[in-house]
Amino acid sequence: GGAEYSLLPRPCQLLIFLNPHGGHGAALSLFKEHVLPMLSKAEIGFSLIVTERPNHARELAREKNLDRFDALVVMSGDGLMYEVVNGLMDRPDWSVAIKKPLGILPAGSGNALAASVNHYSGHKQVMNPDLLINCTFYLCKGLVSPMDLVSIITASGKHIFSFLSVAWGFVSDVDIESEKYRMLGSIRFTIGTLVRLTALRTYKGRVSYLPAEEEGTSASTTIPGLLDPNSSHSERLSFGTQARQNSIYNFCNSNNMGTMEGCGGHQRGGDIPTLEDSLLAPLDQSVPKHWTVVKEEKFVLVLAVQQSHLGADLFSAPMVTGLNDRLIHLFYIPAGIPRSSLLKLFLAMEDGTHMTHNCPHLVHVPVKAFRIEPFGSKDIITVDGEVIECEPLQGQVHSGLGRLVNG
Ligand code: ADP
Ligand code: MG
Repeated sequence: GGAEYSLLPRPCQLLIFLNPHGGHGAALSLFKEHVLPMLSKAEIGFSLIVTERPNHARELAREKNLDRFDALVVMSGDGLMYEVVNGLMDRPDWSVAIKKPLGILPAGSGNALAASVNHYSGHKQVMNPDLLINCTFYLCKGLVSPMDLVSIITASGKHIFSFLSVAWGFVSDVDIESEKYRMLGSIRFTIGTLVRLTALRTYKGRVSYLPAEEEGTSASTTIPGLLDPNSSHSERLSFGTQARQNSIYNFCNSNNMGTMEGCGGHQRGGDIPTLEDSLLAPLDQSVPKHWTVVKEEKFVLVLAVQQSHLGADLFSAPMVTGLNDRLIHLFYIPAGIPRSSLLKLFLAMEDGTHMTHNCPHLVHVPVKAFRIEPFGSKDIITVDGEVIECEPLQGQVHSGLGRLVNG
């Protein structure tokens, strides 16, 4: 409740997590050269934590008393922000903790969130160090906006929170295979794309989604299967109750908070709120009738994104206009796309013109929730660029669950 847009207070105290290995491994010197002078001019105080290992930031976000900090800032790529978001959501007081304003200072090789924020604020697409300077300036201005997060549940019961993307197939392969060119910065994605194109393969599985368009609206005619005459209002209502109970169970279970019964608001004096994934049916059941199941079961890529950029020069979802549009943008390319078309799409992605190609192989649907069920267990699936186990998963958007300092 209350005003969702706000300003960081003055005086202001930041907690900055810096990954010394992010991107080119130059984060600390970039901090001293570009960030430090601007923060001192703006009279913004900070504590700096240089992370020592993977998950260090996640542990601190989960356990540290954060009361004296007005914002948590990540200086790295998207991976470190993913740690902080999920660390906050691990806390017993997650519902308060996740409202702590977050800030991003790009110093990784994948700076999608920073590039997206830069785009939403109306600045032209730039690379580091210009992107870093812009983002430092946003921090000095201190405008805080609500940010949607996607709640993701996996078949093995993990509960993950995502601000950026879920990728399966070509994009996640490139992201992870190109880690070895990390020293080259964001060029690694271009090289990785070319390498993967020569060894193009397909990925087998099922994809389903809940379209964002309400049934019966005119714009929905382009989405096949959207209007399902079998899905009556009452069915959907009763389904919703069942799904809600199940997802609460999943959530509590994955956090070792006990059984379904113990999740009814009784733990620790009943003060731990639960997050309800009200749109999701249990993963071992089929999706609700009013969802759309994609008819193809062989893909080149499947991508669910919430931000405009997948990298500083990857303007992958030009239709995204802000942090709080309450949408997930589902993209998929079924098997059968010629290599040359795929290459053209990726080259055009630098300036976002790939959507104007009207490529018949590229499907885009704005959704509220989705499910991805890979048939095998050996593919690479990433959430916000971080690898997770290859297993069925589903996610739904939560409007404005987080908050981000932006331009
Ligand atoms: P990049 O965009 O360069 O990949 P990220 O922020 O995504 O930058 O960080 C890459 C990975 O490094 C993340 O998975 C993060 O968990 C990990 N990491 C964070 N701190 C350290 C550290 N001190 N040493 C090694 N790895 C780290
Ligand atoms: Mg990364």
